[in-house]
Amino acid sequence: MRSFPYVPVEMTETRIGRRNLIKLGGLGAVASLLGSCEKKPEIKKSDKVKGVVFMVSDGMSQGVLTMAENFSHIVHGKGTRWWELINDPKSTRGLMETSSADSYVTDSAAASSAWGGGMKINNNSVNVRPDGSESTPIHRHLKKLGHRTGLVTTTTITHATPAGFAAVTKNRGDEHLIAPQYLGVVDILLGGGLKFFDAKQRVDSRDWTTPYQKSGYEVLLDRDSFLKSNSQKVLGLFNNGHLPFEVDRLNNADLKSKTPTLAEMSEFALKRFLSGEDKFLLQIEGGKVDHACHANDVAGLLWDQLAFDEALAKVLEMVADRDDILVVVTSDHGNANPGLNGTGKNYTKSNEAFKSITRMTASYENILQTWGKSKTNTAEALAALIEEKLGFKLSPEESAVLYTSVNKGEIIEWSDQLDNPNGLLGQIAGNHTGIGWTGVCHTSDPVMLSAIGPQAKRFSGIVPNQEVYKHFVELLA
Ligand SMILES: [Zn+2]
Repeated sequence: MRSFPYVPVEMTETRIGRRNLIKLGGLGAVASLLGSCEKKPEIKKSDKVKGVVFMVSDGMSQGVLTMAENFSHIVHGKGTRWWELINDPKSTRGLMETSSADSYVTDSAAASSAWGGGMKINNNSVNVRPDGSESTPIHRHLKKLGHRTGLVTTTTITHATPAGFAAVTKNRGDEHLIAPQYLGVVDILLGGGLKFFDAKQRVDSRDWTTPYQKSGYEVLLDRDSFLKSNSQKVLGLFNNGHLPFEVDRLNNADLKSKTPTLAEMSEFALKRFLSGEDKFLLQIEGGKVDHACHANDVAGLLWDQLAFDEALAKVLEMVADRDDILVVVTSDHGNANPGLNGTGKNYTKSNEAFKSITRMTASYENILQTWGKSKTNTAEALAALIEEKLGFKLSPEESAVLYTSVNKGEIIEWSDQLDNPNGLLGQIAGNHTGIGWTGVCHTSDPVMLSAIGPQAKRFSGIVPNQEVYKHFVELLA
């Protein structure tokens, strides 16, 4: 197998070149939707909250909302539920501020720890402050009060965003140390990450599925047993690592039969919490949106954003007749600030270019893995694979530059961030789709924030990310 330089999913260090500094900075087209900051009104004591559903589209820059809306009209013949929610007079709108203690640009660990632990901390840590002291994750706090807790994600269940609500570790990469920490703290755990619970794959060879089973959790490893389960305490691990990109799941019958959707997992968790007497906090994460942005992969991004939106639609449908459930929808940070650029004379080719994304049937990750196993190592073979999976023909120049980058890792792009196969493929695809990216890393922008239900006004205006914890504690006291 040939190797190629890989863009890490989480890049906490950035090398931002001059060109990117020029490109960075726009807040995106939807900022105008927000209007001026709303004044937070008095909260009525009667606004009792039984449960909070906190939904995170990880790494979702503001421009994604607009692209997803247009893409949804093309592929589903209707708009997105989030767009509709923003336009609902009963909902509140705002911006989530996203910085960490040591950077304008947060990573998911510091961002989730701000929500889940109430403090701005340094990137890479989960609920550990710069001085080494620890904060108490919100799920641990709520469990002591006898409440129910849940984490649902398309990444490993031990990844930074779920971990920030229930775990403490200095280094987010120590997922094997996070796996045991959910035991007795989180009632419903659904996502990927079997390898961090499996004795054969853990660095310390300890088995953690059995302790969960002994404590009353049903351990589920495939979609069939998941759909049949009636359990109230569940550890569902539907892949060894992260769950697949939605664009790959949709185009692979095997993945489709094995992997529950984010909407199915969200419904599973919320159904159990709504039917019980206890108060609850459920975090739901569309985690692959972030991964697709790191890879500058527009089809990966939009199909995962639509999967997140389907989960949001399901949640809102399930709580539609309730007046005691608060739903908050946001992101933890922007990522690579993608957007549709005007294409053609008077921009008249923009729609056609954007529609060509519907011809893409695989993620870049999938394509580069397929290429790594390919026996024919020529620029023509790579161009043929791109045409088959992404639906556009590379020009001879595009083909040559991509082949050189993938096979030789040569420097051929002035942006440090984009000088890798993903960055180049993203730019080349942009020649055909009109989508541009500022880099392959998180950005400092505030992100979209919507809320509906009792005390939703708490989540309007500009909300510093660490204030979310205070709201959780007060709402679910
Ligand atoms: Zn990320």
